[in-house]
Amino acid sequence: MQNVDLIVLGAGIVGAATARELKKQFPSLNICLLEKEPAAALHQTGRNSGVIHAGVYYPPGSLKAKFCQQGLVDTINFCQCNSINYEQCGKLIVATSELEQQRLQDLHERCLQNDLSPQLLSQKQLQEMSPNIVGKEAVFIKQTGIVDYQQVTHALLDEFVALGGKVRYGFCFNEVEQSNGKVCLFSDVDKVSAKYVVNCTGVMSDRVAKSFDMTLDFRIIPFKGEYFVLPSKYNNLIDQLIYPVPDPSLPFLGVHLTKMIDGRVSVGPNAVLAGAREGYGKYDVNIFDLFETFGFAGFWQMIKQHKRSVWDELTQSLFKTKYLTSVQKYCPQIQLSELLPYRSGIRAQAVDNNGTLIHDFKFLASDTSLHVCNAPSPAATSALPIAREIVNNVKLNLTSL
Ligand SMILES: Cc1cc2nc3c(=O)[nH]c(=O)nc-3n(C[C@H](O)[C@H](O)[C@H](O)COP(=O)(O)OP(=O)(O)OC[C@H]3O[C@@H](n4cnc5c(N)ncnc54)[C@H](O)[C@@H]3O)c2cc1C
Repeated sequence: MQNVDLIVLGAGIVGAATARELKKQFPSLNICLLEKEPAAALHQTGRNSGVIHAGVYYPPGSLKAKFCQQGLVDTINFCQCNSINYEQCGKLIVATSELEQQRLQDLHERCLQNDLSPQLLSQKQLQEMSPNIVGKEAVFIKQTGIVDYQQVTHALLDEFVALGGKVRYGFCFNEVEQSNGKVCLFSDVDKVSAKYVVNCTGVMSDRVAKSFDMTLDFRIIPFKGEYFVLPSKYNNLIDQLIYPVPDPSLPFLGVHLTKMIDGRVSVGPNAVLAGAREGYGKYDVNIFDLFETFGFAGFWQMIKQHKRSVWDELTQSLFKTKYLTSVQKYCPQIQLSELLPYRSGIRAQAVDNNGTLIHDFKFLASDTSLHVCNAPSPAATSALPIAREIVNNVKLNLTSL
């Protein structure tokens, strides 16, 4: 059995950033990062859109607004210091109907409240800026960028290890024993004990928190985001990221066109219930995961509240033509045969007992553990400020170690 001062569980970008920040602030502590997979960033962090968000959508004063804004600056600084390729290409949010134009005005206002400098574009100005995109009006946010978050995570871990931290892959946590201020984490074959644990397990975070006897008033519902990629002839289709105007009641941003840092353009993601928390194939099902979701009353409340969107997203997933329609609204030249298969990702979205999608980041803490309970988008952008917030939260406990 290994004995350490502190365990960080989960090597996605949040766990990696947290481990590094802890080691920076507490260099003398023995810190171990435990990850069940053979490598880091294989789940949400390695399967996202790769956008460095600027913080357009989030209510001023929310953790998302605060951390996303700071996260953009921190991510870019980190990339510059570590020679990681990134690009601040900007983002266009395009309104294609009158309702969307009204919502666009609200988004423009929100950008101003969040200290961004949005540019409201007329139809003509939009045409000039992005000739392949059509819409009635648009907002341009110049700060938004793109990066490969897997690469960022690997660089964070390199720094953690260089500072003396340890990373153990292949450790799948499945049980905890807590006594006399000590926490012992068990996998099937091994155990590691510590005085403090930070849970950064993404889509598994509610299960891990529950095993620590934390009282939960939410569950993680896994929402799959399916993508397509465009053929290489479209690599220069857009110079900015192209987003539709999102439904303000949902935390998902709609099917967008994303310039990726490798030069290709992806289309997506949608948002459908995943049949398995870590099942990325279209029809992957894990009976235990489904049972858990269907047994949660909040899930059915959520379905009731968002019937229309659930139906739209489901049919969009089943029928590629419907998916195409949502893209053709603002980029008519893309054809069905040009939507090529690409990976999917699964969002860890917390939903409370009343069926409300929890929009903001959420943390729960006890004397011996801290649990990151809701860290969906833009948590990749916000990972560095989230890590500082976690360390500030656990500082009191840590100084007594
Ligand atoms: C489709 C999609 C698009 C997105 N687009 C963007 C975007 O453009 N920009 C942005 O900022 N954010 C985006 N996000 C959100 C962002 O990717 C996530 O918020 C972020 O990656 C969360 O990181 P994490 O470390 O919390 O989780 P993860 O990356 O999921 O990492 C959790 C880790 O915990 C490990 N783990 C789980 N259970 C155990 C266990 N029992 N024992 C040991 N280890 C365990 C997992 O193997 C995994 O490595 C997107 C997400 C998705 C799914």
